[in-house]
Amino acid sequence: MYKAPVEEIAFTLKHVAGLGDAIEAGLLGDLGDDLVDAILHEAGRFATDEVAPLAEVGDRQGSRLVDGRVVTPDGWRDLYKNWIAGGWNGLTAPEDFGGQALPHMLNVAALEMWNSGSMAFALCPTLTMGAIEAINSHASGELKNTYLAKLVSGEWTGTMNLTEPHAGSDLGVLKTRAERRDDGTYRIFGQKIFITWGEHDAADNIIHLVLARLPDAPAGTRGISLFLVPKFLVNADGSLGARNDLFAHSLEHKLGIHGSPTCTMIYGDGKFGEEKGAIGWLVGEENKGLACMFTMMNNARLAVGMQGVAIAEAATQKAVAYARERVQGKAPNWAGGGMSPIIDHPDVTRTLLTMKALTQGARAISYTCAHAIDMSHRAADRKQHWQERAALLTPIAKSFSTDVGVDVASSGIQVHGGMGFIEETGAARYLRDARIAPIYEGTNGIQAIDLVTRKLTLSDGDQVHGFIAELKQIADQVRHSNLGGFGATANRLDSAITDLGEATDWLLAQVRDAKVAEALAGATPYQRLFGLVLTGCYLAKGGLAQAPAGGAEGRIALCRFAAENLLSEVTALKDSVINGAASLAAAKIVLA
Ligand SMILES: Cc1cc2nc3c(=O)[nH]c(=O)nc-3n(C[C@H](O)[C@H](O)[C@H](O)COP(=O)(O)OP(=O)(O)OC[C@H]3O[C@@H](n4cnc5c(N)ncnc54)[C@H](O)[C@@H]3O)c2cc1C
Repeated sequence: MYKAPVEEIAFTLKHVAGLGDAIEAGLLGDLGDDLVDAILHEAGRFATDEVAPLAEVGDRQGSRLVDGRVVTPDGWRDLYKNWIAGGWNGLTAPEDFGGQALPHMLNVAALEMWNSGSMAFALCPTLTMGAIEAINSHASGELKNTYLAKLVSGEWTGTMNLTEPHAGSDLGVLKTRAERRDDGTYRIFGQKIFITWGEHDAADNIIHLVLARLPDAPAGTRGISLFLVPKFLVNADGSLGARNDLFAHSLEHKLGIHGSPTCTMIYGDGKFGEEKGAIGWLVGEENKGLACMFTMMNNARLAVGMQGVAIAEAATQKAVAYARERVQGKAPNWAGGGMSPIIDHPDVTRTLLTMKALTQGARAISYTCAHAIDMSHRAADRKQHWQERAALLTPIAKSFSTDVGVDVASSGIQVHGGMGFIEETGAARYLRDARIAPIYEGTNGIQAIDLVTRKLTLSDGDQVHGFIAELKQIADQVRHSNLGGFGATANRLDSAITDLGEATDWLLAQVRDAKVAEALAGATPYQRLFGLVLTGCYLAKGGLAQAPAGGAEGRIALCRFAAENLLSEVTALKDSVINGAASLAAAKIVLA
């Protein structure tokens, strides 16, 4: 059973991602080590003792549509009640509406643990948190006053309605209609698919954020508006009123996250209310809805990255525990009698160390991204720098971590042998759940395009170059640390950072010369390359940070393993980025 790795998470936050420095610099108000530790321990307890034990029943039963109502798995309603009683929804939410306005770093750490417990369950609050941020950033005071406190408390939940059958990655073609009414409201008509937690029985009201198009809107993404559309209308005194004209038509049957209801939502069908059309309120300005929704999506992208870290952590724990107990054959240096535990076979050792290194790397990248988001709000003198750093790191955190989630979960099954393929060990669920994360919130392919075409060019390339220079300093610190356990780490990091620099400059040159096809052909290998280099650097940073206090042997050994094994992929990836485009274009005939 999953046990939240609270000490490891606290260490990564404080000593790798920058939480410790931010506290010391006084950028996080009264927040101190004691409060950080108390929050992490309680979040970890909740994930371990309350969420994780209900994951299996959620997977087996799933959420079901019964007489038009979505029934969540046994025990999940109470679990959700306990969740809101803990006040978890409001960790980063504004204090004016009952939140605690704590740093995002703490929230993503807590999200990791809840997602390890059950990704399907944690999705519900993840969407609500995104809705809170979008409403708080863009909605009118009246909408904020009506909806935010109940969303922050968790009494109501939020959703994100973008996708339509013909409009997934390309939202510019969405068709859901919005009509103006004289009283300032709008009526919404259309169908949205794949809406996570679009309908359920755990909260009294569901607040949908819906992208739709006005009749006179310009074509494409510049003609999309964002609307707040509640399941139940809200009376002037805050009580619930009539049912709005929307409903969940059906639930998807999915590979994983069975407990999370994925709904087809119908708006304005005339099923509820006297006049056809779901009543909605504009969020932000007409035709500027996509920008507002991006507030929610950026938040959600990092949160989805955390799902990858979370699954990788849980899958690794399970695999290590199994490999200690399962005995087969004799490992080469096995001195005991009888068969050896499989953990001692070099091939299994390699697999488990790879799982651990990738998990810790993805965690450090994601927390560092959250740190940049926090600094962009709190370090007033370097706001633009931190905004750009967060923008650069978001696609890497989302894509690298979710790919790691899938790879590590798959390796976890391999370590279990045949038992991994059998549902009762739970190893298979991790892979089934993890598989959606590289797809939603902008597929990882779309993240790679974003990274190469929009993020590398920030400040004309200065942001990424500055970042690479910082990574070089970590390699230099390893070289000058005189810590023997690092082996060839300094050289391997140097070489990998040089490869990252060369691939970056080549891509920047293609983008500047408008050679888009060449740049995009290498976008995904580049994204992985960046994630691997960051993994090596952040594992080294952790080893260096731990060394003065003693007990750093394990961290340094894992870093050395990653540097001398995993980073060898980097040069090959650079080659694909720089030299792969021509062969890709030539080989397209194969697919004709
Ligand atoms: C379980 C689940 C939950 C979901 N929850 C929500 C939700 O709550 N709200 C919501 O609005 N949506 C939700 N979605 C939808 C999800 O965000 C989309 O599935 C996703 O954005 C991809 O869109 P698509 O499925 O139409 O794939 P497509 O856009 O058709 O993409 C198919 C493939 O083509 C690639 N591709 C597409 N366009 C390009 C391009 N321009 N360049 C390069 N490659 C491209 C993609 O990377 C992908 O590999 C959910 C989906 C699932 C399965």
